[in-house]
Amino acid sequence: MTPVLIVLNAGSSSLKFQVYDVLEGTEPCMAFKGLFEGLGNSAHFIVKDAQGKLLDEMTWSSGDRQGHEEALMHLVSWLRKHQEGRKLVAIGHRVVHGGEAYSSPILVDEAVIQTLEKLVPLAPLHQPHNLEPIRIVRRRLPGLPQIASFDTAFHQSQSEIARMFALPRDMRERGVKRYGFHGLSYDYISSVLKDYDPPLAEGRVIVAHLGNGASLCALKHGKSVATTMGFSALEGLPMGTRCGAVDPGVVFFMLREMRLSPEEAERVLYTKSGLLGVSGLSNDMRVLRANAETNADAKRAIELFVYRITREIGSLIAALGGIDGLVFTAGIGENDVATRAEVIGRLAWAGLTLDTTANRTGGPCISTGAGPTAWVIPTNEELVIAQQARNVLGATQARIAS
Ligand code: AMP
Repeated sequence: MTPVLIVLNAGSSSLKFQVYDVLEGTEPCMAFKGLFEGLGNSAHFIVKDAQGKLLDEMTWSSGDRQGHEEALMHLVSWLRKHQEGRKLVAIGHRVVHGGEAYSSPILVDEAVIQTLEKLVPLAPLHQPHNLEPIRIVRRRLPGLPQIASFDTAFHQSQSEIARMFALPRDMRERGVKRYGFHGLSYDYISSVLKDYDPPLAEGRVIVAHLGNGASLCALKHGKSVATTMGFSALEGLPMGTRCGAVDPGVVFFMLREMRLSPEEAERVLYTKSGLLGVSGLSNDMRVLRANAETNADAKRAIELFVYRITREIGSLIAALGGIDGLVFTAGIGENDVATRAEVIGRLAWAGLTLDTTANRTGGPCISTGAGPTAWVIPTNEELVIAQQARNVLGATQARIAS
């Protein structure tokens, strides 16, 4: 039997999964990947092999009320039915917030779940959905080991000063500080950088994770020294629907003058702002690019996005004391040629020069000249979760055996 583990990334109405073979002595190897969409309404299940060939799909009618629990059980029974010779040994979960308690992946038990539940107010859009499948597995598949991997953990290498807000001390003691997110993505980029440029892996690198969520991370010797996201996943760059940095005074204005409730204000900042809010059109960069010539608001949204990225890169160059390399990753970073060109164009002062042809063909190196280099490197957060889950599982089994 080949042991396999499932990596889950749960959203409000979606459940993304990858299934990894975890044979001893080898790297986890992705066997299948897929997705449930439209959970709670008319759900759709799709599963492909590692090469992207469709293996199976299914749609439920809206009356079936196929939720996360039914989806998870469908996946487990699909594996049993279609994958003889493979045995499910654990589930690895992406959990956005590990707070101060967890600086590394952890085997989940009831106490861990309770600690993670306390962090819901810090990531209200993500944490509840991340925790739901963990509870479902505990109930429906008791005894199956679950490992949580955290988006915040990679940033625990930052200095105390880099993680502080200039707020009263008792607030810091209550955990109000900069945690940073997208750590699984930065962990992956940091781990593969040596395969692209060995000296750069030890240098001063800024990674731009530009997807529906977006942030930047400054790496020195492969470790996070600063990042644009902070206490919550709202801080820093404008994102698909999130505002990024705003003056906290804006929130008081929303509450007092606009008379929004805290929940309404939160909804505006998380789901109605960013590229969507500024353009009034879409959170999807492809749609904005397609309309930028004729729609002034779409053009403005892109311009603000690029302007904020380059301003924040300037800030991280200061935090690093210089820059040796810039890496673009995630949906926009990996695919949007124009965003990469515009960002690098605004960084000529820092010595970056775009290689237009390489940028058009996806690099991986998209710079020329003797200055800092620029790269396009696809991220792989799921592989990091699989590696972490396998390591935690291995360590646990070794502890039980000894
Ligand atoms: P992610 O959150 O990393 O999956 O990234 C999702 C975002 O990437 C989408 O909202 C799109 O804006 C963007 N994206 C994906 N493909 C492309 C593309 N070919 N060109 C421009 N943007 C893209």
